[in-house]
Amino acid sequence: MTSLLVADIAVLVTNDPAAGPGLLGEIRGAALVVEHGRVAWAGPAIAAPACDVRVSASGGAVLPGFVDSHTHLVFAGDRLADFTGRMSGRPYSPDGISSTVAATRAAPDEVLTANVARLLGELRAGGATTVEVKSGYGLTVADEARALAIARQFTDETTFLGAHVVPAEYAADRGAYVDLVTGPMLAAAAPHAKWIDVFCDRGAFDESEARAVCRAGMAAGLGPRLHGNQLGPGPGVRLAVELGAASVDHCTHLADADIEALAGSATVATLLPGAEFSTRSPYPDARRLLDAGVAVALATDCNPGTSYTTSIPLCIALAVREMGMSPAEAVHAATAGGARALRRDDIGVLRPGSRADFVVLAAPDPGYLAYRPGVPLVAGVWKDGRPI
Ligand SMILES: [Zn+2]
Repeated sequence: MTSLLVADIAVLVTNDPAAGPGLLGEIRGAALVVEHGRVAWAGPAIAAPACDVRVSASGGAVLPGFVDSHTHLVFAGDRLADFTGRMSGRPYSPDGISSTVAATRAAPDEVLTANVARLLGELRAGGATTVEVKSGYGLTVADEARALAIARQFTDETTFLGAHVVPAEYAADRGAYVDLVTGPMLAAAAPHAKWIDVFCDRGAFDESEARAVCRAGMAAGLGPRLHGNQLGPGPGVRLAVELGAASVDHCTHLADADIEALAGSATVATLLPGAEFSTRSPYPDARRLLDAGVAVALATDCNPGTSYTTSIPLCIALAVREMGMSPAEAVHAATAGGARALRRDDIGVLRPGSRADFVVLAAPDPGYLAYRPGVPLVAGVWKDGRPI
């Protein structure tokens, strides 16, 4: 058995309230011991046990690897023209998804696989050690199953999003498309998916359609999660809470009743500021959610249409600057919050027994992630006790 000591840690973020003060459970002047890919010990350096191998964090902060609980990485092509149009004054519409659907359907497996690998490489370089990946640009039985099979090569956190939009060929018969999603498409997708998701919003799926999709997925053994309240007020949050969803994502337009429902639930509000940044839209009010006691996650929403970023540090900086979060709250949301949004307790935390997934910063405090926006501060990324 080889034990590894990570030494010279200015601040260790444990997210374990028993380990240290504050929301982040910080230990100053810390060390971390890793064995068999798991955290074996975390505490003050002066009390660290002897280990076989020693590596230095060089006086940087160490924090749990980021958990990106919301991405759409399986696609082909790009939507630069959409982005340029929006930045020239055109509003966002979900219709643009159809161009990515066409490009994705036409792409061979190797192209889609290589694109996922490229984007995951970027995510990892930015400190993400767990990444959820959705389908949703195939929208046929074969193309949705293919997208999930490709995603599964990279992560266990795969989500069936056949109900992303109604594809053009079903525009005149939405009911038939919902029947397809909840029937043959779900049957083909379920072996490759852990979660089911639906875009419950203006221009996408209404409340009863979204409920039918989620209930069918749950009956097939998938956990529900929803896109809701992104483009306007709506039933998404209420429905997510009703269904016991792990997460409802976007949460940009919330009524008081939505916040009350979330606060009394096990559903995480996942905020995706890359989408508001890239669509020049008002940001969600994270302060309002946090003050009400709602569990909040931060994720990239990486997709070619509305948030083509793989940078969790950017999302942290936006959350602090634009959404009323403190640096500690934003770091917590991008680590422990993301883990909770995936119903995981082995990641997003650094305590004995948790996975040794962590980030070493070239900065002495996690607050630097917001304090120095746009600067590549992630100096090292470790997954299962190994540098990646
Ligand atoms: Zn999304």
